[in-house]
Amino acid sequence: MKVWLDGRVMDGDEARIPVTDHGFLYGDGVFEGMRVHARRVFRMDDHMARIDAGARAIGLEIPGGSDALRGVVLETARALGADDAYLRLVVSRGEGGLGVDPTLCPVARIVCIADHIRIYPPELLRTGISMVTSTWRRPPADVLDPRVKSLNYLNNALAKQEARRQGADEALLLNAAGNIAEASVANVFLVRDGVLLTPPAIDGALEGITRRTVLELAAADGSPTRECSLGRFDVFAASEVFLTGSGAGIVPVRSLDGQAIGKGEPGPVVHRLQQAFDRFAASEGTPID
Ligand code: PMP
Repeated sequence: MKVWLDGRVMDGDEARIPVTDHGFLYGDGVFEGMRVHARRVFRMDDHMARIDAGARAIGLEIPGGSDALRGVVLETARALGADDAYLRLVVSRGEGGLGVDPTLCPVARIVCIADHIRIYPPELLRTGISMVTSTWRRPPADVLDPRVKSLNYLNNALAKQEARRQGADEALLLNAAGNIAEASVANVFLVRDGVLLTPPAIDGALEGITRRTVLELAAADGSPTRECSLGRFDVFAASEVFLTGSGAGIVPVRSLDGQAIGKGEPGPVVHRLQQAFDRFAASEGTPID
């Protein structure tokens, strides 16, 4: 693991931040999880636009703006030196006193971690994962806007904990109205009558970059797509369900709450999209060298 911190890249076990950083004390900050495929940062512009919008939404000024972030991301990826990697870019509110007031923090802190990540064991990508409906609901936008990729992931962590305690691989989070929002760190897609369906951001989904890519690849392939509110009914009526995320990849779902989805195994649509995604990812991206 390599970490960019305070102006230089260091080994992971050398990287330390002060305990008064408000990212640590209050989860005050924003982040991105990015992929390096074949020495290119996948859809870097989209990640920069999203973190910039999130930072603005929470009144956080990024030192040096997205130009500085780009430089940090590429330098950290180069230092790790791997052809394929996972990058975690964090902008925290920075150091302040023991009070929640963000104005106590004069300058935001930028951290970038380059490493490898495995959200599910690789064999599950072949068989599909099991999900359970979480009792934790996704907070509405006027509580904690799900479009801001903030450091406050307690809701996500508790949903994942609940799913794992029940022996499942992943949680399905609904919003307060009972509509599907997303999974703990991934967006949800359903296939019904050949149409690709995914919940809109207004229902509590992060505007995922893998999600956007899948929608674009499907459209380019002539497959119909639709963003619309969905419930558990739609999951059981679907022929296929899968998740998308930078860390997770494109992950088939085989069951929800112990009930098989479709044939209970990855279907043809997810296979085709995985292949299209891999082809696209091999050619798209900002070179790290
Ligand atoms: N939802 C949440 C809550 C996430 O943390 C992530 C991972 N960043 C996603 C969805 C998927 O988004 P992306 O494809 O941009 O990684």
